[in-house]
Amino acid sequence: MSDNNDKHAELPLTAIPERAVNKTDSTTEPKPPQRVLCINAHPDDQEFTVGGTLAKWARGGTQVITVVITSGDAGSNEHTEATMTKTKLAEIREVEQRNACAVLGVQETVFLHYGDGTLQPTIDLRRDLTRLIRKYKPDAVVCGDPTARFYGNSYMNHPDHRAAGDAACDAVFPSAGTRFIFPELLAEGYEPHQVARVFLHGSEKNDAWVDIADTLEIKCRALKQHSSQLGDWDPVERMREWAAEEGKEKGLAAAEAFRVMILKEETLQAEGKREEQPEYAEAEL
Ligand SMILES: [Zn+2]
Repeated sequence: MSDNNDKHAELPLTAIPERAVNKTDSTTEPKPPQRVLCINAHPDDQEFTVGGTLAKWARGGTQVITVVITSGDAGSNEHTEATMTKTKLAEIREVEQRNACAVLGVQETVFLHYGDGTLQPTIDLRRDLTRLIRKYKPDAVVCGDPTARFYGNSYMNHPDHRAAGDAACDAVFPSAGTRFIFPELLAEGYEPHQVARVFLHGSEKNDAWVDIADTLEIKCRALKQHSSQLGDWDPVERMREWAAEEGKEKGLAAAEAFRVMILKEETLQAEGKREEQPEYAEAEL
């Protein structure tokens, strides 16, 4: 026993993974990342869940890159006409997603073209997401909480959402930061990168809140770009209800809530020393 203890005593503290330590300060709004990769399964997932936060961050100078794993070609039961084809629908939905991203202030939108409705957290998907993390080197990743299985007693989380969240988290850790996981990415020129924070949406263990009172309108405008899915439905009232519900615990009129994983302590640069502020253009839609 003493042998083991002695060995452990020689290890630097950073070599020992911390478990069950909550470093998130729930009393203040999380500091915006400088660059964020927002990874979701379908076109419109981002707008429904984190559109207000991304719009707020983008307007504060955060560089936002959106990754959409499928192109939503399974459509919706309600609004997809019988004459529609999967190829045509994918094209329509990619245009809608790009328009929504333009409204939010997203700088780049990447589609991975996996099949909608049958997504699996495969090694191929993990490698594709690892490549993007190493390419864009975000300090934060936003994705869905893969452990969310049932919401209340009326919505079972879509399997694609769980698969996307799982693959995204696994790409963040350990794949993106570990040199010899996916050595083929090294050969392509993608060096390891450590993501500092992961913002999980749709979690049942929220510990961070972003006030979206000033960007709720932009979120709704972005969401409305997905007209092939929404039909004539106006999302404003529902989004206001959701935002009020999420903000209630913190006394906020409108919020988006997250569970935040802090994987690396950041030395955040002083406001004035942030990287050159990217420009975003308001969509002319
Ligand atoms: Zn979805």
